Amino acid sequence: MLRVSQIKVSIDDSIEVLEDKLVKHLNIKKSDLIEYKIFKQSIDARRRGKLEFVYTVDVALKDEQAILDKKVPNVMVAPNLNYEYPEMGTDKLNGRPVVVGFGPSGMFSALILAEMGYRPVIFERGGNVEERVHSVEAFWKEGILDPNSNVQFGEGGAGTFSDGKLTTRVKDLRGRKVLDAFVEAGAPEDILYTAHPHIGTDLLREVVKNIREKIISLGGEIYFNTRVTDFLIEDGQLKGVKASNGMTVETEHAIVGIGHSARDTFYKLYDRGVHMDAKPFAVGVRVEHPQTLIDKSQYKEFAGHPKLGAAEYRLTHQASNGRGVYTFCMCPGGLVVPSSSEKGRLVTNGMSEHARAE
Ligand SMILES: Cc1cc2nc3c(=O)[nH]c(=O)nc-3n(C[C@H](O)[C@H](O)[C@H](O)COP(=O)(O)OP(=O)(O)OC[C@H]3O[C@@H](n4cnc5c(N)ncnc54)[C@H](O)[C@@H]3O)c2cc1C
Repeated sequence: MLRVSQIKVSIDDSIEVLEDKLVKHLNIKKSDLIEYKIFKQSIDARRRGKLEFVYTVDVALKDEQAILDKKVPNVMVAPNLNYEYPEMGTDKLNGRPVVVGFGPSGMFSALILAEMGYRPVIFERGGNVEERVHSVEAFWKEGILDPNSNVQFGEGGAGTFSDGKLTTRVKDLRGRKVLDAFVEAGAPEDILYTAHPHIGTDLLREVVKNIREKIISLGGEIYFNTRVTDFLIEDGQLKGVKASNGMTVETEHAIVGIGHSARDTFYKLYDRGVHMDAKPFAVGVRVEHPQTLIDKSQYKEFAGHPKLGAAEYRLTHQASNGRGVYTFCMCPGGLVVPSSSEKGRLVTNGMSEHARAE
């Protein structure tokens, strides 16, 4: 497989033009192209009166070496993106591994463990996604907060009632495994190649449910509405976890993926002598603009074109005191929603549906 970048297709052209441009760029016959798939798609709207989609495409050719020998610009061997599972241990485990929290970190830890045959036991203090929709609605409509099942706590974690955008700001090949798992669970395939992949809260709820069902089908066990209340530690070694449903699971391995708001659990871990490092954090505010304003500013005369979604932007600034100020977590075509998980505290979040058309 070769990876060809910087293939530009005008917004007015059909996607079939991509293949013609690819063949032309590589200077090959159409019959020499076995197959191709889009690896990345971004938008170039920098020039007035012109808007192009810029593609990076993975291609299988009859003679790939010939293209490499000719040193055709913007061509490289496509890196292998297949996820490599960590090596299996050889010691017998004392008990099944426990995963605390079923947000993105807990969910993917549990998925990998289940795929590798470890049959994890998972505890999530909030409800499953179907129940959670009701507790969130009760909060938004009537102001009734359930401190265990809310916009931040429950199946899928803090990102479920959010934008469903898949941004990590890190270049890690394992990110591909996450995207593949989402597509397998029903997310739209374009998340595999769009520059800013986005699922939307409406589709994400189904995707999260399907991942849960896969984990269960592989032997995992999930307890919702069940908070881990204590960690049994002897001589610095974990021996088990206690849960609010009365269960005690004997285990020497727990992955604690509890997000940033479960203060009660952080205190418990601290009391039990678990080492903790304070982490720097960024403080942000939510700003709401009319979407039409952003579309006009980014896409100019192309604003509202059916091939373009809601536009977004990214700004950064280095202040004179050395601090960085930056925009993050934009939710184009979305809403600002109240997202508290504790009584008396105010948290806001951005949320949008797949169509980004609020
Ligand atoms: C207010 C807010 C707004 C955000 N907005 C966005 C956004 O718009 N777009 C975006 O892409 N990202 C957003 N993020 C970031 C994103 O949600 C997080 O990066 C992501 O959810 C972190 O995943 P996680 O699994 O580490 O933690 P979380 O998603 O927080 O999941 C932790 C899970 O652990 C559970 N838990 C906690 N304690 C226990 C316990 N003792 N026992 C059992 N279960 C427990 C919780 O119920 C929760 O479900 C936002 C985060 C917050 C807090």
